[in-house]
Formats: sequence, structure tokens, C-alpha cells
Amino acid sequence: MSSGAPRGQGQVIRLPRGASLSDFADKINANPGSLVQEMFNLGEMVTATQSVSDDTLLLLGEHLGFEVSIVSPEDEDRELLAQFNIDLDAEVATERLVSRPPVVTVMGHVDHGKTKLLDAIRKANVVEGEAGGITQHIGAYQVHVPHDGVDRALTVIDTPGHEAFTAMRARGAQVTDIVVLVVAADDGVMPQTIEALNHAKAADVPIVVAVNKIDKPEANPDKVRQQLTEYGLVAEEYGGDTMFVNVAAKPGIGIEELLEAVLLTADASLELTAPIDGPAQGVAIEAHLDKGRGAVATVLVQKGTLRAGDSIVAGGAHGRVRAMLDENGKPVSEAGPARPVMVLGLTAVPGAGDTFLAAEDDRTVRQIAEQRQARRRAASFANSHRRPSLETIMEQLKEGEKTSLNLVLKGDGSGSVEALEDALFKLDIPAEVQLRIIHRGVGAITESDVMLASASSEAVTIIGFNVRASNKVREIADREGVEIRYYTVIYQAIEEIDAALKGLLKPEFEEVELGSAEIRDVFRSSKIGNIAGCIVRSGVIRRNAKARLLRDGTVVADNVSISSLKRFKDDATEVREGFECGLTLGNFNNVQVGDIIETFEMREKPRA
Ligand code: GDP
Repeated sequence: MSSGAPRGQGQVIRLPRGASLSDFADKINANPGSLVQEMFNLGEMVTATQSVSDDTLLLLGEHLGFEVSIVSPEDEDRELLAQFNIDLDAEVATERLVSRPPVVTVMGHVDHGKTKLLDAIRKANVVEGEAGGITQHIGAYQVHVPHDGVDRALTVIDTPGHEAFTAMRARGAQVTDIVVLVVAADDGVMPQTIEALNHAKAADVPIVVAVNKIDKPEANPDKVRQQLTEYGLVAEEYGGDTMFVNVAAKPGIGIEELLEAVLLTADASLELTAPIDGPAQGVAIEAHLDKGRGAVATVLVQKGTLRAGDSIVAGGAHGRVRAMLDENGKPVSEAGPARPVMVLGLTAVPGAGDTFLAAEDDRTVRQIAEQRQARRRAASFANSHRRPSLETIMEQLKEGEKTSLNLVLKGDGSGSVEALEDALFKLDIPAEVQLRIIHRGVGAITESDVMLASASSEAVTIIGFNVRASNKVREIADREGVEIRYYTVIYQAIEEIDAALKGLLKPEFEEVELGSAEIRDVFRSSKIGNIAGCIVRSGVIRRNAKARLLRDGTVVADNVSISSLKRFKDDATEVREGFECGLTLGNFNNVQVGDIIETFEMREKPRA
């Protein structure tokens, strides 16, 4: 404690995730070297410029008397944009709201016909009749369908499966309004059907079920409806509120009905309007490097209007829109809300799910992109040191109100996963804790499981029962800070989770009285303040015990403690009933003859 770093008095300092001791030192006007020394004293060797974990920042803050508030990447991005006078919410003029098409993602089990369905929908573009046009795969397309006599547009994300969906959500981009869940009528509900369903539910996105392949003789569409009731998707014809549509993607049967159902579901459950004026904001859906054209990105405009010539920044990439093309390869001069367009002119390839925005000039977008790149490097480095575990969740929960344990269960067979889940729900779960299984499935722990966990706003632990994650998946989990636990014996898994659940509870404390003393005399000392000469009336008085002072039965001082205790001239650790003692109550000097001092301690109540 001699290294000379300044001591705060609870001042709040804001640090971005992944900040270094140098950044910390800047904020408190200290020498970075002194903070390195402080951390060393605390038992951690870190260099001044190394990006450190949240925990390290908080620990150092607490040690030095500063309240460290770690700024989330989203907040930080807002702050970054604010430096350029960009306020995402204010940026787009909201005077003119237009209704926008819903954005649809197709998900479902492998081979159930997602790709065929996407093709079929594209071909069903009846109004425009783009016949002959060669549709390019740009990651998203728009179709028009007549609905109630009006031409309605629909935007379809052209990447089947839920990987893209969750990757985007993990980056904080909610792109999809409606999920079309494809289930083959000849195969029924399969593991990835459930996986897709859980992804949609986790994102709180309404689902329309496309019961596919009804042209097949062995098709049993009613069985699909029945199976899905078990997962909370009840067909309208069974009194539920989910629309099921029988289709056959290959021959193109029922596609219009499916699109109608999507529009009906959108109209019933979603408010689909967006401002059309002002600089564009949205999300990058897909991007790649093209030999001839350089970085090519498909973006989905969510607010405002994007125009050729605009300066844009998408994640850490920036540039000026040199040209925009639609899914038919035709040039587009402007794109409004829910319009996907392929953008040429970026200097680098953004990631899928990166947000983009148009700004005043090239310089602004370049600076924003550069700062984001720097921040990402720092954050990804810091993240590798940060990993929530059942234990840290326990810690968090002790402190705060958060009381849910979120799990993804993966096992080697549906039997074992069910057994594990059953056993978990048979645990005596205290009312204050919510145990949530956000996804369950059979097979190895996949990237998609990790993405689902990391997209969640709360910590999620993945449980692998007799299954493992590949090295690649493990790396992603490390990077995203998702905890994976492996078990081979059910009871061991249950035991640990049970312990975590018990630990999750904020411990309940009760006050236990230790003793009381009556003040018989007060001695004044210039050095240590007023000393109370007491006789112990009950129990024992211990040094350092918590205490309160009562005068005529009312509490005059609470939250004090016996800071010194003497028997005659000698220091004592405790004094028993019937004996005399001298004591002080820290800084509290207002002691009077006749006052009663009660001492007590807080004991944790054991849980049943
Ligand atoms: P994905 O893995 O979900 O994208 O499935 P695909 O779209 O690749 O389809 C898997 C297989 O099912 C392909 O051989 C398709 O031709 C076939 N298929 C898809 N839809 C239908 C359909 O409506 N009827 C029939 N009979 N076959 C279909």
C-alpha cells in the first residue's frame, strides 16, 4: 500500500470492457506503474498496457476506493458515436413512419426442405414477376405477394438454418421478425427442429410452421401438429395461436398460403413501422471479399434510407457506397427500411450481424471504424480471461437480485438428456430461484449451442453429458465467455447443480444477541475519545462485535462496534456477565451513564 496510487472515496469511474491499467491510471490521474504495483500486491501480475478482465478492474477499483463501472460494448459504441455527434435514436427523423415488410428467417432440421422452400418463395414473387431474372444469392431477398388486395412485400433472409440467426443475435442484432419453422411431414419433429424452435423462443420471435413435403405419400402433417403441441406450439385449428401451413416446397404447393400466414402473423403480433427519412441504419447480413469488386456486403436497412454515394460504417469496416445492387443484380439508387441490398465500396469485410450506419462524411466513418477495430482487439483479448462459471454466477447472485440458473443440456442420447432434465426438475428448487433449460439436445456441443448461450442476456452454462465440444467450439466458448461443464454420471451433475442452486440463494442472516452492558460511568480521553465504563448485564461483550446503543429503550446508535475493550488496564478480547469493563464504540462518542449497549452478530441461517 505504499506505491502511491491515489485513493478514491467511492468516486465512480467508467471504464470500457477490456481496459488496461494504463486506462485506469488515466482516469484517476495516477502513474500506471503504481497500479501495476497495486495489482502485484493483490496477487496478480499484469502489465500496464495489457487489457484486463472485468474482475481485475473491479478488484482494483474496490482496493483503491473507486467505484468502477464497466461500460458494455453497446453503451461504449453509443458513447463512441456520441463523440461524432451521432445519436442513433435521434439520428433518424421519425416524422415519417412507413410500414415496412416483415423480415423472415427459415429454420428447421437438415433435409426438411429449407433450401427448397427459400427457392420456392423466391419463385412465388408473383406481383413483380421477375421471370427470367437470374436471382443471385446475396444473403437476403424481397418478394411481393398480394394480401387483402394489396401488394405486400416480405424480406427473406436467404441463409437457411439458425447459425446465422444466432450469430447475429449474439452480436446484439435482432434482424428477424418472424421465423418460418420447416418440418418435413414424412419425418416429423427432429432434434434441429427443437433447436430452431428454442432459438426462436429465446429471441422472442413469433413462429409460423411450414409443414413440408405433403406431396409425399407417407406424409403425416397432423402428426407434426401434434408433436409440436408438446413444445408449446399449438395450431390455430387446435385452439392455439400458431399458424401451421401445409406446403410442398419442391413442387411449389402452398407457398402463397404460407406467405399469407406470415403476413397475418406479422400483422397480428408485430408493429412493423420504421422511419424512412434520414441517414440509414441497419445490419450487415452477409459479406465476403470478391476478387473483382473488393469487399461486398449485403446489408439490411432498418431505419432511414441508404443511397449510393453515402459514407457508411459497418462494424469495423467503412467506405462510401459505390454501388448498390438488388438480388437480381440490378442497380438500386436507394434502399428504405427492410430492404436488403448488396453494397460495394467498403474498405474491409464486416461481420454478419455487425450494425451499419450512414454518416456525414468519409472522415467520420473512418474514425468510427478505426476506433471500433481497436476496441474489438482489446475486448477479444480481455474476454479470453473472463469466463463466468457456476461459482461466479453464485457470487453475482449473492450480491444482486438475479436469481436464475440458465442451462443448455446436451447428452449422448435423448434418454439421458430427458433423465437429466427430469432429475433437475425434481430437485428441491427454492422459490427464489428460477431454473431454466433454454435448450436441450442430443449430440456434441456445437457452435450453435455456444452462440445461443452467448446471445442470452444472462449467463448460461452448457452441460455436456457424455458429450464434448470440439476444440474449435471450445475456443469459441472461451472467446464468448460461455462456461461448459462435462459430466459422465447423472448424480454428479445433479449434485453440482443442486449445490449451485443452494449457493445461488442470497444467504439469509439472522441476528444473534451476544450480550449487553450498562454504562455506569464515562471517562473522557483526549486521545481516544469517550470511554464507557460498563458492567456486563448478560452474555459476553466481545471486542469487534457489532453493537447498538439504547437510551431509554430507543436506539441512539446502530451499526457501531466495540472497537476497544479493557479489563482495568489490560486489553481484553471478551468480558463476561457480571464483570466490569471499559469500552469505546469507534467514532461514536455520545455515550451517557445509563445507556445500554447491546452486542450481536449476524449468523447465516442454514437452509433446509
Ligand atoms: P434443407 O437441408 O432443409 O435445406 O433441405 P433441402 O431443401 O436441401 O431439401 C432436402 C431434400 O428434400 C431434397 O432432396 C429436396 O429435393 C427434398 N424436398 C424438399 N422439399 C420437398 C417437398 O416438398 N417434397 C418432396 N417430395 N421433396 C422435397
